[in-house]
Amino acid sequence: MNRDDMISERERRLGKAYRLFYEEPLEIVRGEGVWLYDAKGDRYLDCYNNVPHVGHCHPRVVSALCEQAKTLNTHTRYLHDNVLNLSRRLSQTMPEALDVTMFACTGSEANDLALRIARAKTGGTGIVVTEHAYHGNSRDIAAVSPAYPNFEGLGPHVRTVPAPDLFRGVYRGSDAGAGYARLVREAFADLSKYGHKPAALLIDSMLASDGSPTPPVDFLQLAAEATRAAGALYVADEVQPGFGRTGAAMWGFERYGARPDIVTLGKPMGNGHPISAMITSTEVIEPFSENTKYFNTFGGNPVSCAVALAVLDVLEEEQLLENARQVGEQLKLGLKSIQDRDDRIADVRGSGLFIAVELLHEGEPDVQSTVRIVEEMRRQGVLIGAASRDGNVLKIRPPMPFNAQHAEQFLDTFAGVIQRL
Ligand code: PMP
Repeated sequence: MNRDDMISERERRLGKAYRLFYEEPLEIVRGEGVWLYDAKGDRYLDCYNNVPHVGHCHPRVVSALCEQAKTLNTHTRYLHDNVLNLSRRLSQTMPEALDVTMFACTGSEANDLALRIARAKTGGTGIVVTEHAYHGNSRDIAAVSPAYPNFEGLGPHVRTVPAPDLFRGVYRGSDAGAGYARLVREAFADLSKYGHKPAALLIDSMLASDGSPTPPVDFLQLAAEATRAAGALYVADEVQPGFGRTGAAMWGFERYGARPDIVTLGKPMGNGHPISAMITSTEVIEPFSENTKYFNTFGGNPVSCAVALAVLDVLEEEQLLENARQVGEQLKLGLKSIQDRDDRIADVRGSGLFIAVELLHEGEPDVQSTVRIVEEMRRQGVLIGAASRDGNVLKIRPPMPFNAQHAEQFLDTFAGVIQRL
């Protein structure tokens, strides 16, 4: 079937709410490491996909999946070592006391569970999120996801705060962290005023859909203090920054010395296999557990847990955090030297293999150049994306085995594209 026919059949059979990437959508049929191959056999350098965290179709992960699938796949109503081993391994990477894990299949489900647990613990319903946050697609989570074009809108129990942004945000000075934390405190006060008792601050530790701005280093700690003072819990959404992507630490919140009450994991956890988790302490989970039962048919089954354990093994054995740190630095340095020659590139930021490039024209978001760069990079065989409220931030977030040669190829292509723009 040709591409146009596939596109129109897809629209009819899947409905129009689905979106495709690129003016010329890709039909990808195979992946290996950091490479994707289309139906014609053309190869693309994947600088976008964070789900195939340890590389597309990593043999170790595929083999763990196949071996366990050949042996047994049931659910969490029987005893099985895999689920305990995974819970143990994850809590070893978490701050002290965060040692209770509940498994699900998607980031949305993990966040949904986190908010239910926060409500049970605090007796409140009020949630604070950033202005362009995305936390998932269920009804309750869409209601706390301003980035989701959702006809039901944000809930009355939700308040937004500006994403802390030292480059173009409302506070940029040395006391910016305190300024942004004050906005969190005011948001909780407003919720209380309207009868919504505070329950949680839900925040993506990378602020990815806000365009991955650089926050003041003390923001998360101060915001967590303001949250607890309001009687609410701090929920760290690690669905994007987790599993070492930032190169600096296993979890995004660790970079700021913050200590969440609840952590949610997803996307990279199963390298493409659907598994997610919500991690918290015995103390926080108690009121929830006392009043309900939890079962998730597929969440935490023996195959999913085997896959997630293999991802953790590969991360360690291939030293992928260290790789993310080194190659991420190389990418940032290269992009900064391109920035010196091109004033449309206003800011290069990020950490490890999560890099954002903000484009401005005469001080305003340069959406047109952003879109053209993404499209032209795709034509040149390099896949990146765009994010932020205005859509003027390039998102560069390749699988973790992205190495120095891949970074060179990305930078050469990028320099050529931006020069011809
Ligand atoms: N949280 C964040 C920060 C995300 O980026 C996403 C997905 N883009 C989700 C939650 C939701 O995850 P899922 O699509 O697996 O439900």
